[in-house]
Amino acid sequence: MGKGRLIVLTGPSGVGKGTLLRSLLRRHPEIHVSVSVTTRAPRPGEIDGQDYYFVTRLQFERMVAQGELLEWAEFAGNCYGTPRQAVEEKIQAGRWVILEIELDGARQVRKTFPSALRMFILPPSMSELESRIRGRGQDSDSAIERRLVRAREEVNAANEFDIQIVNDDLEEALSKIEMALFEPVPAVC
Ligand code: ADP
Ligand code: 5GP
Repeated sequence: MGKGRLIVLTGPSGVGKGTLLRSLLRRHPEIHVSVSVTTRAPRPGEIDGQDYYFVTRLQFERMVAQGELLEWAEFAGNCYGTPRQAVEEKIQAGRWVILEIELDGARQVRKTFPSALRMFILPPSMSELESRIRGRGQDSDSAIERRLVRAREEVNAANEFDIQIVNDDLEEALSKIEMALFEPVPAVC
């Protein structure tokens, strides 16, 4: 059995984290992506239990109170969190687990799982980020505004992460993620 590992992928909303992850999983189906819990309403096409577990605020608060979340945060008016048990079981079983989470959650994981590899995905520019969020066409104008304000704060924290990758050309960004995950670390004498 291989050694379990926790990997954190963070970056502003709309930078392409979901798109990169879907491509990564097609190439490496052995990696497990944690399914988060959220109080956000499902977007068209999103499936409960696959994209997220969609819950009420009361259900979310109960999960927090019962210690069921490995980390959680409020983002653009909604709550998001990582179910603890599934992640811990997968890592125990030797799997690699990816959390696609925002900055506050990534900071919590740094404290609770210091061995996690933390990657930050950057946009080529803020104007490109805005056009990706608008092009996705799934958020209201006010939600887009909130996401852009938060995006600036997140980008300013990119240096807190082990690795920063610019998602300009999708294939190049994907190769860089693969290199970070699979290239052997040079031995230190
Ligand atoms: P996130 O999961 O970070 O919120 P998404 O994966 O939903 O972002 O991507 C946001 C939008 O940007 C989508 O419409 C996606 O197709 C597009 N996108 C992602 N990566 C790139 C890229 N490298 N170049 C151009 N558009 C991209
Ligand atoms: P979206 O609403 O666009 O799906 O997600 C908004 C933000 O919440 C994204 O930055 C995403 O990475 C983050 N997010 C998704 N799940 C979690 C989670 O479980 N915990 C935290 N802290 N952030 C999450």
